[in-house]
Amino acid sequence: METGEISRKIKRGRHTTRHTELFCIGGQTYIMDTPGFTSLRLPEIEKEELRNYYPEFAEPSQECRFLGCVHINEPDCGVKNALERQEISRDRYDNYKQFYEELRQQKKY
Ligand SMILES: [Zn+2]
Repeated sequence: METGEISRKIKRGRHTTRHTELFCIGGQTYIMDTPGFTSLRLPEIEKEELRNYYPEFAEPSQECRFLGCVHINEPDCGVKNALERQEISRDRYDNYKQFYEELRQQKKY
């Protein structure tokens, strides 16, 4: 992200980006350059669908004890086991949990 002249007072770059841009970096992977946001509007999907957007969950989820496991609080979860073995990115999993919670909250209103 392009940053402006470093402010002497706050000693860090100030973001000059005023718009949001998506860059394709190959395959189906994108990086978003954005001035930042306080909330992210998720597409209208069911919270149970969210796990399908994490292809790395597919294989370990075959070990889950429950068929409808969403890999959060269920016991004997293959995804959480894979996380413990560091086969799944902790950051990605944490994002998953955060998005899942946001989808759950959205449904209430
Ligand atoms: Zn699971």
